[in-house]
Amino acid sequence: MKRLGSQNLIIVGAGIGGLSAAIYLRRKGFQVTVFEQNERVGGRASLLEREGFRFDTGPSLLNYPWVFEQLFKDAGRSLSDYLELLPIDPSITFRWVDGTKFTLSSDLPRLLEECERLEPGCSSSLFAFLRDAELKYQLTFEKLVSRNVDSPWRWFGQLRASELFRLSLWRSLDGELKRFFKNRQLREALGSYGMYLGGSPFDLPGIFSILSYGELAYGLWLPRGGVYRLIEGIEKLAREMGIEIRTNCQVRTIVVENGGVRGVELDDGSRHSSKIVISNVDLPTTNLQLLASTNGIKKGANKQAAKTKMTPAVITFYWGVHGSVPGLGHHTIFLPQDCSAAFRELFELKRIPQELPFYVSVPSAADPELAPKGDTTMFVLVPVPLLSELPDTDWEIEAQKIKAKVLATLLRYGVALDPAQIAVEERYTPATWQRRFGLFDGSAFGSAHTISQVGPFRSRNFSADIAGLFYVGASTTPGTGMPMVVLSGRLVAERILGSVS
Ligand SMILES: Cc1cc2nc3c(=O)[nH]c(=O)nc-3n(C[C@H](O)[C@H](O)[C@H](O)COP(=O)(O)OP(=O)(O)OC[C@H]3O[C@@H](n4cnc5c(N)ncnc54)[C@H](O)[C@@H]3O)c2cc1C
Repeated sequence: MKRLGSQNLIIVGAGIGGLSAAIYLRRKGFQVTVFEQNERVGGRASLLEREGFRFDTGPSLLNYPWVFEQLFKDAGRSLSDYLELLPIDPSITFRWVDGTKFTLSSDLPRLLEECERLEPGCSSSLFAFLRDAELKYQLTFEKLVSRNVDSPWRWFGQLRASELFRLSLWRSLDGELKRFFKNRQLREALGSYGMYLGGSPFDLPGIFSILSYGELAYGLWLPRGGVYRLIEGIEKLAREMGIEIRTNCQVRTIVVENGGVRGVELDDGSRHSSKIVISNVDLPTTNLQLLASTNGIKKGANKQAAKTKMTPAVITFYWGVHGSVPGLGHHTIFLPQDCSAAFRELFELKRIPQELPFYVSVPSAADPELAPKGDTTMFVLVPVPLLSELPDTDWEIEAQKIKAKVLATLLRYGVALDPAQIAVEERYTPATWQRRFGLFDGSAFGSAHTISQVGPFRSRNFSADIAGLFYVGASTTPGTGMPMVVLSGRLVAERILGSVS
């Protein structure tokens, strides 16, 4: 990579990854300007306010709080001065239509009781699972996702043979869970996280048992006032540090000359110079749209985008409900009776599953301030195929059908929500997600985390073709989810510091 000397730096997009990179680089003395196309920062983690209801558009749960605490600490501040985190425990309830429920909790006796209820006698297996997943979690964060390593040999070489074996990279997540649990529903619950990583538990690597472990060990949290309070806290920190954040500024092109970045051109035609540009816009979108005019890049970008497996799209509903909805806690995941069939439909047959798996969050259950007094703020997330997988779909019509299905399913599960109670409704279809945030093919969580798209095999956070062009966010390293994109910001900052020092 060329050595770069400039101290000015432009970031395209004020998602969490963009803001994290801005903070780490400002701390090192860079003059940072962030251009964001929307009216507010946060990207997918945005905010809708309607008639006294406060909806987080994307993330509804915060895990690995230590990552955010570290971000503030690295900036010389304390997270607790900017926001308050409310513990959500019990954290997630899984429900099946046969009436089975399974609730996760960071409280070990409670968790044991729940697991024993589903699989009598499994306590020792649960302990073994937790010990095993703890080791994987530590190895992952200490050695695999916390530094820039581009060569597979060096990446794997950081691990002793026994450690490599323990990571279960070559076994499926379901296979990994089978080592510990016999009960199908218990495994389905712990494996259902795979959906957000872009695969079924049958084809994602076993290392992802760290997801359920991480939530159990570090808890799930809700910032008081909703997830957007976290974004507001990070934005405040960034502005206090002197980072210039310009909202309502859409970048049309990343300007490239003689093989190097020269800055960006906005939609209003203005040009802003910099020899370093970090794009927080979803990586395939960056390459296909913001670099489209650059010779030779489009062809390569098309090829790379076609090769990249993306996580599914989602339809999300934001419901302001009059009165209460009994029986729903902060997070509930509704799983179909035949999970493997639903995953097959979604990931292999590329169609909307007959029996929908979906997720419901009621943040006002934990923080009543998120809804008018006595009312309920509800968020529903339904995974669906990507835009290109259902090219002739009218997503507005599909959203209506899915809404009816979700309401009928809730009734079957005994959740009494009268449609007449829904006083406020907003919905984002995959097309909305693509339009509002630039998400490639409408994919909600970015590139998938299949074995060929993790670590050094994932799209890198720098361009090998254009000097001074870097990437940050869910589709580059280390991966998706709010904590991961905060780390992505630190990693790209380290990459840049390494190249200019
Ligand atoms: C429905 C949903 C639920 C989720 N739930 C959770 C959860 O519970 N917990 C969790 O940890 N994670 C969750 N995630 C994942 C998490 O939201 C993402 O991984 C993370 O927010 C992605 O951040 P990012 O840095 O990649 O930026 P993005 O959020 O992708 O932001 C990119 C920014 O770039 C801007 N932009 C795009 N094009 C341009 C342009 N041309 N000019 C200027 N600006 C531009 C966009 O407007 C946007 O603000 C969820 C995601 C979704 C969609």
